[in-house]
Amino acid sequence: MSATFGFRFDNRYAQLPEPLFSLCPPQPVSQPEMVLFNAALAEQMGLETDALRTRPDLFSGNTLIAGSEPLAQAYAGHQFGNLTMLGDGRAILLGEHLDATGNRMDVQLKGAGRTPFSRGGDGRAALGPMLREYLISESMHALGVPTSRSLAVVGSGDPVYREEALPGAILTRIAASHLRVGTFQYAAAQQDAALMDTLIQYTLARHYPDQQNSDNPALALLDAVIERQASLIVQWMRVGFIHGVMNTDNVTLSGETIDYGPCAFMDAYDPDTVFSSIDHQGRYAYGNQPTITQWNLGRFAETLLTRINDNVDTAIEIATDRIKGYSTLYDQKWLAMMRRKLGLFGEDVMDATLIQDLLDWMQANRADFTNTFHALIGGEVPDSDLCQQPAFLDWHTRWQARLARNSKPRESSWCLMRNSNPAVIPRNHLVEQALTAATEQHDLGPAKALLAVLGQPYSDDAPEQYRRPPEPQERVCQTFCGT
Ligand code: AMP
Ligand code: MG
Repeated sequence: MSATFGFRFDNRYAQLPEPLFSLCPPQPVSQPEMVLFNAALAEQMGLETDALRTRPDLFSGNTLIAGSEPLAQAYAGHQFGNLTMLGDGRAILLGEHLDATGNRMDVQLKGAGRTPFSRGGDGRAALGPMLREYLISESMHALGVPTSRSLAVVGSGDPVYREEALPGAILTRIAASHLRVGTFQYAAAQQDAALMDTLIQYTLARHYPDQQNSDNPALALLDAVIERQASLIVQWMRVGFIHGVMNTDNVTLSGETIDYGPCAFMDAYDPDTVFSSIDHQGRYAYGNQPTITQWNLGRFAETLLTRINDNVDTAIEIATDRIKGYSTLYDQKWLAMMRRKLGLFGEDVMDATLIQDLLDWMQANRADFTNTFHALIGGEVPDSDLCQQPAFLDWHTRWQARLARNSKPRESSWCLMRNSNPAVIPRNHLVEQALTAATEQHDLGPAKALLAVLGQPYSDDAPEQYRRPPEPQERVCQTFCGT
């Protein structure tokens, strides 16, 4: 083992009962090469940034950082509705790092080789999808959406074989944890009450410490997760993010976004938007994300039933009530978020109608989601041709009248709107262009330029090329998970 490089590992997950993981070292690669290194994140984590910058071997798993206890986590998951036993087939948890303030975070290598859960897979990842996760997760962070983050992408020097041979890579992912609904599904399948109680306590300690001494820890956990997930999905809806694979193994208990596969941002507003090539029925379409989350939370609640109440009927009644309550909670949070997007303070009974009318108009006219909201900041009628339509002008007049009833000055509205409506998002066509340059021309210039712009999403300084929607011929209609 080498030095710590500023990593302060304190690995509690490795002390949980054995069914929950399998100790498993990363498999070395031929030629680790640093592709992207997130110096700002390294600084924030309290790491030795300059020393790490030149040590791709640490981020490929060729050299183990002192204090790591590599393991693959076990979990199950409803994938497109069907329950499967999974586990990390290509992600290895190095350990839990504590930053200077005692903040605990998972350090995970994705694409670091086969594990006991790899099934038929090679345990590896291709460079394109790992760069994609880096770009989009860092963009989500800058947008203010809870998310796992990306510390590094390292090329492996080895090909991975998908439909064709592709350059292999490893992503270092930093997350509040990798506990997911699927972790609980896996644990519940063991039919061991003590194991469930241990896992509940571990999760509460990690994410909801003020609930640790609750009279009913399982129910407290359910409530807390419902709250966090409702908040998270509202944030996705705010920025037009479509996760693409909302299987229960990709739903975190921390309320962070994880597992960036075929995810994408919506250009023209349409609730039916789907990009993922494997989502044939639109199960995970933009507009379905809130209800699919309720379904996923239902699966979570099922794992907790025996711990909520000894009487199964009582437990079902309590849990059902909570899952139903998610709808109300989500609707409240969504409405509050949409009010912020439109600079509305206070509450007016007609707000929901005002908001829905704008969305309906946007959908009917295929208006760009990001640019339409951004153009409203300042209150002028946007100068696009689309916005000269009588239907839009009528809506704009109603919006102005509502703004006039605000309890605060106009400048406060514009400020609220500036913080709620990004100027730049990682548009698919730009992401694809950057990934193509990186993987086919070994040119990281476009990816780095895009990252820089995405780091300041609320600034008006971004060049027009990053802000305009794609031309018809540039449009990317399908995204792939690349596993
Ligand atoms: P994901 O779609 O990334 O959430 O992955 C679903 C499941 O497939 C997880 O258990 C992964 O660990 C596993 N998996 C994905 N790709 C690979 C691979 N190349 N080798 C082994 N397991 C994989
Ligand atoms: Mg996953």
